[in-house]
Amino acid sequence: MRICVYGAASPTIDAEYIRKVEELGREMARRGHSLVFGGGANGLMGAAARGIRDGGGKIVGVIPKFFDDDKVEAICDFCDELVFTETMRQRKQIMEDRADAFIVAPGGIGTFEEFFEILTLKQLCRHNKPIAVYNVMGYYNELNDVLEQAIKKNFIRENCSDLYKITSDPEELLRYIETPVLGERTVRDLKDG
Ligand code: AMP
Repeated sequence: MRICVYGAASPTIDAEYIRKVEELGREMARRGHSLVFGGGANGLMGAAARGIRDGGGKIVGVIPKFFDDDKVEAICDFCDELVFTETMRQRKQIMEDRADAFIVAPGGIGTFEEFFEILTLKQLCRHNKPIAVYNVMGYYNELNDVLEQAIKKNFIRENCSDLYKITSDPEELLRYIETPVLGERTVRDLKDG
């Protein structure tokens, strides 16, 4: 499968996050998957790319041109394909189009935005691809609490929790991603109002 991994750009995070995501990348490659990602060389983007490369998998980086022009961020220099876009929006669109599934590794604002966009689109039945949140060292526990609270208070439909999986276990994460999605839902099944 072509798996999109979203994750931190920051190079100053704890090394254990880096280690876990490199390991995930290697396991993805071992299982025959390829990587679609934001093209960054640092943080968990770089970690996912190194893992996939070490496992012999293919890598597609998608990055806005201004990152290169303005030297905003180091770009991964071993992608099999590097797609340059004009805007951040185009980049998200291409990552979405070119992936069969999404993994959300720990990250900051950019990663949160990517997760919520892909989840919103799934809630609106614009795609039906698996989304898995990799909860390394409990990083997403509080986010999960926020989502559960929103369900409890009827801001989100209860069955929306079926739209993604959150786990700290890489085997469970990849098994979820690889399981064919069954059944069709309509927007009315998932969204009030
Ligand atoms: P953040 O979580 O804020 O570190 O942002 C990382 C996520 O947003 C990645 O999954 C990228 O697709 C995108 N992104 C944001 N900032 C950058 C950057 N400096 N370099 C590459 N991608 C970035």
